[in-house]
Amino acid sequence: MDHTGEGGLLDSQLTTPSADEQIQFLANVQRLLKEGAFVATYKYALLMALTDLSVEKGDDTGSPLNLSLSEIAEKFVYYYWRQTIPYVPPTISTLPHDGMILQQNTRSQAEIVRLVERAREAHSDIQNLKGNAPNKWRRLVQMVAAKIDEQPLWKLQRVGDEYLEFLYPNARQSDSVVLKVGVAFCFRRFHSLIGDLVRGAWARYVRRFNHNILGTTTDLHEFLFGTERLPLGNYIPILWELQNGSCFYCGHLLKRESSNVDHFIPWAVYPFDLGHNFVLAHDRPCNSKKSDMLASAEHLNKWAERNSMFREELRRRFDAAHLVYDLKVSARVTYWAYRQTFSANGLTWRRGEELVHLPSNWSSSLDVLLQ
Ligand SMILES: [Zn+2]
Repeated sequence: MDHTGEGGLLDSQLTTPSADEQIQFLANVQRLLKEGAFVATYKYALLMALTDLSVEKGDDTGSPLNLSLSEIAEKFVYYYWRQTIPYVPPTISTLPHDGMILQQNTRSQAEIVRLVERAREAHSDIQNLKGNAPNKWRRLVQMVAAKIDEQPLWKLQRVGDEYLEFLYPNARQSDSVVLKVGVAFCFRRFHSLIGDLVRGAWARYVRRFNHNILGTTTDLHEFLFGTERLPLGNYIPILWELQNGSCFYCGHLLKRESSNVDHFIPWAVYPFDLGHNFVLAHDRPCNSKKSDMLASAEHLNKWAERNSMFREELRRRFDAAHLVYDLKVSARVTYWAYRQTFSANGLTWRRGEELVHLPSNWSSSLDVLLQ
């Protein structure tokens, strides 16, 4: 496969969307969010899933992209998992201390939320469910997929009385949807913009239907969509050993208390918590100076080399610790993030205050992981 999208076979048959077509795409997404009738938050979850999966599975050639219902359903489970934690307002209120689950539907609670809520009560975290009860996990994904098929999938593109059929053909075909030519390209190109639009609309919707619980609370966005402050402690022993107790970025020795599990592709660029994306670094200055930037090409090479060289060992260690990982997805997201930065002639962080551009051969070390 030609994942560079330059000079491949596909390029001779397909053209990527023109500037006008890209603007039209964004205008259509805006129309869906503004004019579409949303009786539950499923449509937001569906748009997010299509956007994220375009990054994780698609490429930049403009090709159509086939996505299975179960892939989409897994995304739903991840999004709703944290949202089914009972919400406890940050200020003391008259509510019971255990909080309440936010309503995601205009009438009774959305059914997918109920399904996820039950699974969360029994298994507390997704790793635990996937690792210890794989059959239950598959069953949950199947049930969620059936709900998606029943509801948002065929309603997402309806605005008023018309269908704005720009994402995928609105007709059932086996257990997948095929994103039309150019759609995955646009989702990849505008991932952060569309993500912000959708999350903003989703949060406004939830606020509207949960007045009594939310009041004027300001941390709703963080509650719904999270921050990178997840417990990442389980990674420390694995990374410590792999890096011989030294900082991934500067190579100097670390102290346990001031070392930090860093998202190599920053959470702000693409929010995911897959094993291979983590490195151990000095809290200060390395991690804090890198902040929300991509690390420079030399760090990228080192990251690719590590994940390739220790492929088997990491697989074993992640499995033993029940940590979620998918090397292919991590590599594809990494490729996508760097390509975005390279195309925009953006800067990457090297060390301290030093910022550098990417060289034209930045992607070569990723080849081995993308195959
Ligand atoms: Zn360092």
